[in-house]
Amino acid sequence: MAGKTGSRQIIGESGSLLTVPLRAMCYQLFVVVLALGALGWSMTAATVTGTHWLTLAVLVACAVAHNELARGIEQGRREVSGPGHVDLCSVWLFAGALLLPLPLVGLLLVLVYGHYQWRSTFIALHRRVFSIAVLVLSALSAHQVLSLVGGPGHLFGPSVSTTVGVILLALAVYTGVDVALIATRVHLYGAPGVTVRKVFGDPSKHMLEISTLFYGSLLAFAVGYSPMLVVLAFPPVLMLHRSVLLKQVEEKSRKDSKTGLFNSEGWHRNATRERSRALRAKEGFGVLMVDLDHFKKVNDTYGHVAGDAVLKAVADAISHEVRDYDSVGRFGGEEFVVLLPGMDEDDGCGVAERIRHAVTQLVVEAPVEGRTTLIRNLSASIGVSTFPSAGDDIEPLLLAADAALYEAKNTGRNRVVGWTGLRKPVLAMAA
Ligand code: GH3
Ligand code: MG
Ligand code: MG
Repeated sequence: MAGKTGSRQIIGESGSLLTVPLRAMCYQLFVVVLALGALGWSMTAATVTGTHWLTLAVLVACAVAHNELARGIEQGRREVSGPGHVDLCSVWLFAGALLLPLPLVGLLLVLVYGHYQWRSTFIALHRRVFSIAVLVLSALSAHQVLSLVGGPGHLFGPSVSTTVGVILLALAVYTGVDVALIATRVHLYGAPGVTVRKVFGDPSKHMLEISTLFYGSLLAFAVGYSPMLVVLAFPPVLMLHRSVLLKQVEEKSRKDSKTGLFNSEGWHRNATRERSRALRAKEGFGVLMVDLDHFKKVNDTYGHVAGDAVLKAVADAISHEVRDYDSVGRFGGEEFVVLLPGMDEDDGCGVAERIRHAVTQLVVEAPVEGRTTLIRNLSASIGVSTFPSAGDDIEPLLLAADAALYEAKNTGRNRVVGWTGLRKPVLAMAA
């Protein structure tokens, strides 16, 4: 499910308000009250002119038309998005923040997101309200910077260099407030597998967000000069949207659709890169092979759909136990592989032990014959191998981890076996 905060969307949190932890709920409420206070305060001081209303009408019309024309593209992007989905409506919103007084920015946000809400049913209302509040506070902060050149709308100020400098600063402040408010919420929410680092750690998403804001700045100049110029600005936004979708589809081809983990191609790509890095840095890395115990019984007892829910829960549990830059993959079936840069066998066995324990603690809500059933008492066996002692390439390392896993299965399951702890006959099988 997707939850929207600011112009980024957090994938992985459930949508219902009832599932929001109390501290995250209190925080959301606090941000909304703060934004309402800011809007109330700004209404007493704002001077709204006919030009402002015309600008608002042009930006709302463009944002709505953009949303309608890019609905297919956006649907495709959502299906392949990881945590921290960036939508592109900030082009229109940031132009509004640069040109309009705060009450009209608030109105722009309500109209644009109202249209989003009407057209897309999958984002919870409380998230919409929070997202609008975040953007009102971001715009308010940017307005404080714009006051250096006479406030919003005064873009053709004393000198071009001053205006550009102030707009860059306003952009940085707008982004900074947006990121800080959303990161706090992600942290307080604590959804499994959704960390601040995962939401904000992808540089390409930052570049996309910043590009939309830069484009919004240019748009503000164009619309400030003449609202008619928006006609020239519109087609490139749609093209940008389409090109972003292509990049995301390419990324998706490296992911396993059932669990969101890397598929074989994606994992091998990361592993090959890590091997090159480790060779250059004269370091090691670890490989874990995780296999669920008696998983066939889960399928036989609860059905395949429930089995799939267990696979997803295990994938999330493994991701939760490792660092953000470790690569977790599923090559199909109920086996998972983990790449642990910089780790030796002791470190690797420590992580494996944490994963093993986490799997035993899982209680998975799974659909069984139309009802939700709780599945517990799961366990996994884990084999650990390390570069370069167990093999100097990826395939021998996987074979060695598999041999250690085989040993874990043979010695009672629900255990971790390191490659160096193998008995000789098992080693012979791996060779
Ligand atoms: P062991 O403890 O020896 O690993 O026993 P196991 O039952 O887990 O292992 P086995 O390899 O015999 O069975 C794996 C099962 O995983 C068989 C297959 O039906 C199931 N499976 C493989 N891929 C999927 C999947 O994508 N979804 C579901 N639900 N089941 C899957
Ligand atoms: Mg198994
Ligand atoms: Mg298996």
